[in-house]
Amino acid sequence: MVAYVAACAVVVGSALAAQPSPVAAQVEAGAVFGLPFADPPGPDTWLLGQVYGNSTGAFARRREWYRAGQGIHFGIDFSARCGTPIVAIGDGVVLKVDASEHGSAPHNLLIAHPNGYVSLYGHLLERPLLRVGQRVRRGEVIGLTGDPDLTCTSRPHLHLEIRDRTLSRAFNAHRLIDADWDALMLIGAFGRGFQRDLDDPRKWQSVYDQPDIRFGGPLINEFKHTWPRDWN
Ligand SMILES: [Zn+2]
Repeated sequence: MVAYVAACAVVVGSALAAQPSPVAAQVEAGAVFGLPFADPPGPDTWLLGQVYGNSTGAFARRREWYRAGQGIHFGIDFSARCGTPIVAIGDGVVLKVDASEHGSAPHNLLIAHPNGYVSLYGHLLERPLLRVGQRVRRGEVIGLTGDPDLTCTSRPHLHLEIRDRTLSRAFNAHRLIDADWDALMLIGAFGRGFQRDLDDPRKWQSVYDQPDIRFGGPLINEFKHTWPRDWN
């Protein structure tokens, strides 16, 4: 019986992994990137702060902070004390430095990758010492973590997005970064799970099936019946 259950889990897992993302069709699929830190996770290094997707926190702020991303948290947050070195998640070329039109103040960095993706590193402590057009290698230090509130005590974290080359879409970064997300979700600040659409209660309940988004598109999580309760 144990073997049977395990076999089912493998089948479900591979079916999820093989599920193509409609907007990712033009770019390389699979976990092609690495984590943005050289050190392993832990209380003295970094922890997962908020997942990509329709987390309960993103849902609560869907009409304000995350409206531009159709109500979805369109990146992954990594909690880390200010000044923690961030590394490039893949080989690439610096596309933009401090591009405030893409949010994630006070400083951000965008790297274009040869596989068609762009990675965005946000809430950096200081302007990265990199020039547009400069080549970077996967694992190379590209910046330092900061705090959007500029205190380094309120919510220091890295906000990491993976977009398409036009920068108009953000992808579910959990599918594209090679990491043990199920284990990472067990520690750190993330513990409240995903918001439920009670008319389709199994929708978007795993990190791997969170929807890709198009910036400026309509909200996709204005659920009629939802849990936890919506107090707005
Ligand atoms: Zn974020």
